[in-house]
Order: sequence, then C-alpha cells, then structure tokens
Amino acid sequence: MTGPSSLLERRARLLGPNVSTFYDEPVHIVKGEGVWLWDADGRKYLDCYNNVPHVGHCNPRVVEAISRQAATLNTHTRYLHEGILEYVERLTGTFDDPLSTAILTCTGSEANDVALRMAEAVTGRRGIIASDFTYHGNTSLVSQLSRSNVPGVGNSDWVRFVPAPDSYRPLGGEAGMAHARAFADAVGEQIEALKKTEHGFAGLILCPFFVNEGFPALPEGWLKPAIDVVRREGGIFIADEVQPGFGRIGSHMWGHQRQAIVPDVVTLGKPMANGHPVGGVVTSPDIMSAFRNSFRYFNTFGGNPVSCAAAMAVLEELEDKDLVSNARAVGDYAQARLRDLAQKYDFIGDTRGSGLIFGAEMVLNPATKEPAIDFTDRVVNEMRRRGIILSKLGRHKNTLKIRPPMPFGTEHADLLFETLDDVLASTPLHHG
Ligand code: PMP
Repeated sequence: MTGPSSLLERRARLLGPNVSTFYDEPVHIVKGEGVWLWDADGRKYLDCYNNVPHVGHCNPRVVEAISRQAATLNTHTRYLHEGILEYVERLTGTFDDPLSTAILTCTGSEANDVALRMAEAVTGRRGIIASDFTYHGNTSLVSQLSRSNVPGVGNSDWVRFVPAPDSYRPLGGEAGMAHARAFADAVGEQIEALKKTEHGFAGLILCPFFVNEGFPALPEGWLKPAIDVVRREGGIFIADEVQPGFGRIGSHMWGHQRQAIVPDVVTLGKPMANGHPVGGVVTSPDIMSAFRNSFRYFNTFGGNPVSCAAAMAVLEELEDKDLVSNARAVGDYAQARLRDLAQKYDFIGDTRGSGLIFGAEMVLNPATKEPAIDFTDRVVNEMRRRGIILSKLGRHKNTLKIRPPMPFGTEHADLLFETLDDVLASTPLHHG
C-alpha cells in the first residue's frame, strides 16, 4: 500500500512522531520537471515554493554533470582535484573583494557552524547577535540562534537577539531609515550587554533579505547603520545567503549586494547544487587563514568531486539561461499582479518581495493589521487542492510565501495568480 494514509502511518512508525509534512492533505510527489511536480496519482502541480531545485526540478545539465562525475570518480578533499578549485574560483568570482576563498560543506547548518567558529577565531570572543525570528540551521551550535525553535533548555547566554525588521509594522512606528537606525540601536544595546559577559562580542549573523522573517521591504542602505556599529565594536558580519542567494531576488546575485554591504563571511546552502547536498562559506583570505590556523577543519563529503560538478552546473545554468534576469522580470510582473489583488481585497494588508521571492500579508482588518492566521492557512491548503504548491511564513504565519524555481515564467505566474484570485474570492475570511 502506498496511499497517503498508509505512508503517514509508516512514516510515524519508522521515522518517529512529530515529523512535519506540508498541508492538511500531504502531497505524495513522485516526479518533477522544471517548475512542475506530479503526485502518485499522476496529478500535476505548479511548484511555486521550492527553492532547492533552483534551476528547475531534475535539470538535465545538473543530472548529466552528476552522473558523468559519479561514473568517473568520487573521493574527498584530501586528494588533489581540479573540480573544487574551478568551482570556488567561479563562485567567488560572483562576490566583491576581498571575498575570494571558500569552504564547502554539505548543509547550510554546517556552513553557519563554520561561520560562528570563524567569528571566534578572528575576534577571540564568542558572543553572537541574531534576529529574534530567524532560523540558521539544526546543529547543536546553530540551533541556539533560533528562538522559534528553542532548544529544550533554552538559548545559551552567548546568543542575544534583536527584533526582526518588519516593514509593515516597523520598530518605533516609522519605516525606512528611522527603522534602520532603531534596528542599529537595538544591535548596539545587545553588543553592550554581551561585553558585560565573559563571552564578549564576536559578530552579528543575519539573512540580508530577512526571508524567514517575512522578507520585509527595506530600502537600499537599510542595514548599513547596524553593520557600522558591529565593525566599530570589533565584531564581524555574517550574511546568511541560504535563502536570498544565487540570484533569487532578481536585482543582484546576493542579498547583501542589494544592501551595498560586503560581509566578512557569507554562508550558502539550499539552491547551491539543485538538491545535491552542498553548502558553503565564503570569506576573505585573512579570515580564512585565522580559521584554518585555529581549527583543523575537514568535512568528509564537503567539496567532493560529484558535489562540485553539480554546483558548477547550477552556476553554468544560471548564466546560460540568464535566470537572474528572468527572476527580476517575472518578479516585477508578480509584484504588479499582487498589487492588483491588494486593490481588490481589503484583507491583503501588504504585498512585498523581490525577484522570485514574493507574497502578500493577510489581515482581518487593515486598520488594526490583526493577522488573518487561519484564513492564510485555509488559502494555502485550498491552493494545494487546486494544484498550486506554496506556503506561508513570518512571525504571524499570515504571509503567503511564494518562492518558485528560477525558470518560473510569466505564464506560470498567470496560472498562479488566476488561481489565487479565485481562491481568495471563495475562501471566507472568518471561518464559520
Ligand atoms: N540558514 C537559513 C536562512 C535557512 O533558511 C536554512 C534552512 N531552512 C538554513 C540556514 C539551514 O540549512 P540546512 O537545512 O541545509 O542545514
């Protein structure tokens, strides 16, 4: 038996309880191609959610690169191999100076783990500041950076939090640069607090587009006051590019470039090799030397020849198909369609995003901005029933999270928005 209920029962028995699935009716996907998915009954879904298959599900160039290298050699980085050098050269070529060296890992969590140790190696201190509504990974060390996924015994004393930016409900009530200065002040306060502890202040880690926080609309230069405070206090800035990186935001290859900031360390993951498990840390030669001289880091699978071939194929595909420009063009089109929907429906309190990460925030009342949490959940589930895969996110889980693979075109956006319009028109705001 392979029906959904029997699979759910086997999952619970074999994988343990509380292993999450998406949707009231979980989807059993058996095949993918480009921006499309098929379930076990042969039903086709438009994938408006998955960022890991960055250049499209089962992208032929990536599949071919993986199988060619797997049929030739797969070892690890203790043997000499050009694959990793060619990849790191090409990858770091997309970053600004002095970000020219990299460590390859297997996950974003490992990349952030390494980044925290780099902060320690460079500053000799341990204290880290993060946003209070983020996720940076699942290792024992980096799970400390999440308050939404608090470890059983609570967060450690070396981690301090600042309020995640929210452009719809900005800190202190003012948007734009006033909000930016309030954020920088909050970072400054936490630095002072850390300096009073044995940990001291080592660095600030943020997603430069605050994707998990709900991708607030922040003007260019918004992050600069906070980063200035960090540098003045001798800390480093770690940009977690796991979500916005590799051109997703359309305007730039990296989220920090949109903010005109050069981070000290950048961490990468999810889309990096289209589903083959690859993560990475990019930094300057100085920070890399400090780290390499402090720790003897080796990662058995990180940077293996097959992973490098898969990751290289992603960069080639992005460039050959001009997928970053596509993300920008389709993203602009999507923003216009979102604004049209917001004109039509009062319960859309805010629309935002950039490139192929976009969404709308649902409220029960636009004056009070009370989040329409259940409504958003019902919309997401109804979209799934109509064959459109998307989700929700943010502090109140009332923002639609639309983040499709990069080959997503305007024809796909049309199907998405026509269906969404229909679902918004037929889903009651208040549940009866
Ligand atoms: N950083 C961010 C911003 C993430 O969203 C995630 C995963 N959702 C991670 C790090 C961790 O990546 P991984 O699951 O590959 O360890």
